[in-house]
Amino acid sequence: MPEPQVLYNACLWFIFVVSALTFPALFLFTAPYGRHKGADKGIGAGMNATLGWWLMELPPPLVFAFVYSRGEHRAELVPLLILGIWEAHYFYRSFVFPFLLSVKNKKKPYLAVAVGFGFNVINGFLNAYAITNLAPHLTVEWLYDPRCWVGIVLMIIGFSICFHSDRVLRNLRKPGETGYKIPYGGFYRWVSSPNYLGEIIEWAGFAMLTWTPAGLAFLVFSISNLFPRAFSHHRWYQEQFDDYPKERKAILPGLL
Ligand code: NDP
Repeated sequence: MPEPQVLYNACLWFIFVVSALTFPALFLFTAPYGRHKGADKGIGAGMNATLGWWLMELPPPLVFAFVYSRGEHRAELVPLLILGIWEAHYFYRSFVFPFLLSVKNKKKPYLAVAVGFGFNVINGFLNAYAITNLAPHLTVEWLYDPRCWVGIVLMIIGFSICFHSDRVLRNLRKPGETGYKIPYGGFYRWVSSPNYLGEIIEWAGFAMLTWTPAGLAFLVFSISNLFPRAFSHHRWYQEQFDDYPKERKAILPGLL
């Protein structure tokens, strides 16, 4: 087993390289889950979507808590605050979101679950290790640094946008319906995928709050994954609905 620091460096580079490859690749090949499930024939077989989401999102809270519990600065206030924020986000993503999906018997491709699971193990390790071992700046003084508060405020704004947008989508389907409708309200007024925009703002806040390369790596990966997918969704809506709002952008209000 390599030294944790060696493993950390290797994982960090891995995430940056994977992100650099993912970004252009997902503009060429849409990840085959949700409405794009048929996009890549042959790898669409899958498991129950609720189970898939739950399994995929289980590593971040568990791996993070485990690595954190062995860290050098585990008993200090700011790392504890970050632990609480991380666990709160993943309580929603792992234990609430999968059980609220509007269609219970949809499938999530095995490949998407496996890739998400693997990324989440690495990401949980990286961020917990960085916060408890490699971030000497995360002392009580950090609470007086604007990066700390701007980061927390961005995280709250991002989570609120993401939570609200996910709820709008959930409420589009009546019981028994499985199709797609045009979402309205909140940030849907401006963009097709405000849930992705909210998620990116949230992890931008986390990167600022923690000020670690691991936090930056998570942000870069989220952008490389969610940006191209937002464009795929946007194109798909425009193709499916003649009355799709013309002024709506893919992910950045007024811009893209
Ligand atoms: P989508 O927006 O594609 O779908 C979310 C849910 O809403 C699905 O259950 C989907 O059903 C349903 N839905 C979407 N659009 C419509 C519509 N027009 N009409 C009716 N139902 C609709 O999001 P994802 O599944 O890709 O992601 C879910 C959450 O996970 C998001 O909040 C996202 O930000 C987050 N996420 C974060 C990642 C990261 O890297 N940090 C990576 C991936 C996701 P169906 O399944 O049938 O399409």
